[in-house]
Amino acid sequence: MDVIVVGGGLMGTASAYFLARRGVRVTLIERNRVGTGATVASFGNIRRTGRHLSQLPLAHRSRALWGEAEKMLGRDVEFRATGHIRLIFDPDSLADMRAYAEAAKPWGLDLEELGPEDIRARFPGLGPGAIAASLSPHDGSGNPRLIAPAFADAARRLGAEIVEEAAVEEIEHTRAGFRVVTSKGAFAAERLLNVAGAWGARIAARFGEEVPIEARGPQMGVTEPLPHRILPVVGIWTRTKEYGAYLRQVERGNIVFGGATERVAVELEPGHAAADPARLPGQLRAIARLLPAIAKVAVIRTWSGCEGYVRDMLPVMGPSATTPGLFHAFGFSGHGFQLGPGVGDAMAELITTGRCETPLDDFGIDRFRRAA
Ligand SMILES: Cc1cc2nc3c(=O)[nH]c(=O)nc-3n(C[C@H](O)[C@H](O)[C@H](O)COP(=O)(O)OP(=O)(O)OC[C@H]3O[C@@H](n4cnc5c(N)ncnc54)[C@H](O)[C@@H]3O)c2cc1C
Repeated sequence: MDVIVVGGGLMGTASAYFLARRGVRVTLIERNRVGTGATVASFGNIRRTGRHLSQLPLAHRSRALWGEAEKMLGRDVEFRATGHIRLIFDPDSLADMRAYAEAAKPWGLDLEELGPEDIRARFPGLGPGAIAASLSPHDGSGNPRLIAPAFADAARRLGAEIVEEAAVEEIEHTRAGFRVVTSKGAFAAERLLNVAGAWGARIAARFGEEVPIEARGPQMGVTEPLPHRILPVVGIWTRTKEYGAYLRQVERGNIVFGGATERVAVELEPGHAAADPARLPGQLRAIARLLPAIAKVAVIRTWSGCEGYVRDMLPVMGPSATTPGLFHAFGFSGHGFQLGPGVGDAMAELITTGRCETPLDDFGIDRFRRAA
């Protein structure tokens, strides 16, 4: 079997790797360099807390693969299972957390509830006003710069062809499968996997499949390095958008943060999302509730990235509803980093066997047609 993978973000490179591992001849086509789309811009959160419940089986599959990443890919991609804590400052949010924890238990996610004393003792300096927190001890973070190139190199070692800086000009469905014409020549394969991120809906539309998706950019920032003290990834349970911030400290000492502000609309061409300095003070105020020490620290860089947000905030994953041999996995709506390895493995399973042990029914592309 041969497969063309269009898009070289985390989803494309992970899919190329797992397809190649299953003995498939893979050609990955990326119009820029691998990993330079939404993937490199990611905060790097490997978080299961708060996910849509039907996404948890895929998230568990992915979490297991993150744990194997260093051995599997032959290099450290800085996956650290530091835990993921979400602080709580009011009774409504505590009720939300408890309801989610109860609902998530049968889906295999166990959240610990911490009281204020536990927070002070185990995580000094975090959320002095917090009344409680949830802790997911086996979650953590990874390095968004390293993961896609690591998957691409590992795929290459298994024989995959990775074609970068190749703009796709035409995609034809032929009797034998697909023919993709690019600025670097034409490629043909029996099957095609559309993992083009925020641009994925444009490829789906060529095959008569409409997906309600918007390209938006969440805003991130990073501080100067400080002594490394904060172990877990830190977030919040809140109903108030302006408080919805998150942060983590990388081992080099810098604090990376995001959230608490609207995601700005991004033009798909050229697809560059710009951070807005006017949004920074609001973000920092929200971060200061979680980590008051942020007030004394200099922010050295802000950035954003172009991500595809589907109307129902769930990804599109699975076979095309119009075209045999075509598969989609795009529109990860701001939470694809954690899912990436699992998506690659699940799509490789689906493409090669026609089945997937992880339920993907809620993510089918035909759900929009059914809803219309
Ligand atoms: C600022 C930011 C922070 C985030 N933080 C988190 C987080 O903490 N945790 C989390 O789980 N998720 C997070 N996400 C979401 C996560 O990064 C994405 O869901 C994930 O990286 C999507 O991967 P992808 O491979 O689908 O898309 P991308 O990485 O965007 O890859 C798609 C690729 O397709 C290429 N492409 C498009 N069209 C074509 C074409 N016609 N021909 C060839 N190539 C094409 C693009 O150039 C791009 O490289 C964040 C996203 C952003 C933007």
